[in-house]
Amino acid sequence: MNDNKEKKYSMETHLIYGKAFTEKWDYNHHVVPPISSSTTFRLDSAERGALGFAEFGNTCNLPNGEEPIYIYDRLGEPNKEILEENLAYAELGETAVTFASGMGAISAIFGVLTKTGDEIICHKTLYGCTFSLLNNWYPRYNVGVKKVDLTDSFNLENAISEKTKVVYFESPSNPNLELIDIKQITDIVKKFNANRNETDQIKVVIDNTFATPFCQRPITLGVDFVIHSLTKNIGGFGTDMGGVIVGPKKYRDVIMLYRKDFGAVLGTKSAWPIMVYGLTSLPIRLQKEINSAMKVAEYLEKHPAITYVNYPGLPSFKYYELAKRQMIDYNENFAPGNMIYFAVKGKNAEEGKENGRKVMDFIAKNSYTITLAVSLGHIRTLCEHPGSMTHSMIPAEEQIKEGIDPAGIRLSVGLEDPADIIMDLSEALSQI
Ligand SMILES: *Cc1c(COP(=O)(O)O)cnc(C)c1O
Repeated sequence: MNDNKEKKYSMETHLIYGKAFTEKWDYNHHVVPPISSSTTFRLDSAERGALGFAEFGNTCNLPNGEEPIYIYDRLGEPNKEILEENLAYAELGETAVTFASGMGAISAIFGVLTKTGDEIICHKTLYGCTFSLLNNWYPRYNVGVKKVDLTDSFNLENAISEKTKVVYFESPSNPNLELIDIKQITDIVKKFNANRNETDQIKVVIDNTFATPFCQRPITLGVDFVIHSLTKNIGGFGTDMGGVIVGPKKYRDVIMLYRKDFGAVLGTKSAWPIMVYGLTSLPIRLQKEINSAMKVAEYLEKHPAITYVNYPGLPSFKYYELAKRQMIDYNENFAPGNMIYFAVKGKNAEEGKENGRKVMDFIAKNSYTITLAVSLGHIRTLCEHPGSMTHSMIPAEEQIKEGIDPAGIRLSVGLEDPADIIMDLSEALSQI
């Protein structure tokens, strides 16, 4: 089948079959691509070896449909390249490059897009390790970081300077699920880019891990690069780590070169389950999890021990109208995701933090369907409480100043029967 005929099928189907034709593997005989576990590849002649090296990092000039010459796993091999084709497809992007972890992908995109003297603008709340990367490491290379509240895009207009090269954010953001208006951000950046030459253009990068490509395709809203931790929703089963950058084809070579030299390549044995089990089942998992998350969020919202619930599907959510515009599935249905953030009551910040800890400890000891664990996007429901876990050393009042609600709990809804999740939550919340 050629690539054109394939257009009549839906994305759910595409995520199972990938591209109808790929040069990466002989699909004529395997129904499932085999695990390609070979660190090095036989070169038929020195000449073929030389050609392989010449072509690496220069694929933009290769004619379409040419079989790649594989040399060494760190440069490229079939499993991750088939996964990359399918990830680009899922995000409606031109190309994808995988990494050993989400952080591998995030550090690579900053590495490729910035140099000494440049500046990154990011949203004030971010995944913890991204925050650490920007705070602890990039200043050493004299790459500056400006943290602003991007939920108000006016702040971006004020923050952009001559030095700005990257605008970076998550939407929904970790852990509290703030939404950022993606289209508004890319429109503002476009305005600034109109006066800049090609090498000085500001790039917009989004970490789409929380939403997944099933719920949100930021490239269609003008974003340049999409990042995922494949460890989470796309991998889905909690067995393997991985990361990806999806973006314009003209950047593929430089990102591949960066990956070759910095070395954070995705292992073939991890690429395979993400491709065979994870991405293929993403739509069906997310559909079920969105349904369950809606029920859980509605339950929590009515609970007397809860002060507020942030879930993009709730009409009471601060960013509900925006969520309806930008979180939609491949068939244009509202798709508010599987992540919920809620806060438990307390007379003051310290008591809120303590109540959060109590709920966590009860869940850890007694709940069958909720696991106290970091990470998210698994078939099992996972919860964590930043106030008494990742940020426990910081006093409750200080946590508030840093934008962390000491009473806030993050819940990643899995595939269990939602009535069971609600039953376990109800028992846990009766402790406070
Ligand atoms: C987990 C996560 C990351 C980091 O991914 P790893 O695969 O753990 O390196 C980055 N961003 C978000 C939003 C995450 O949840």
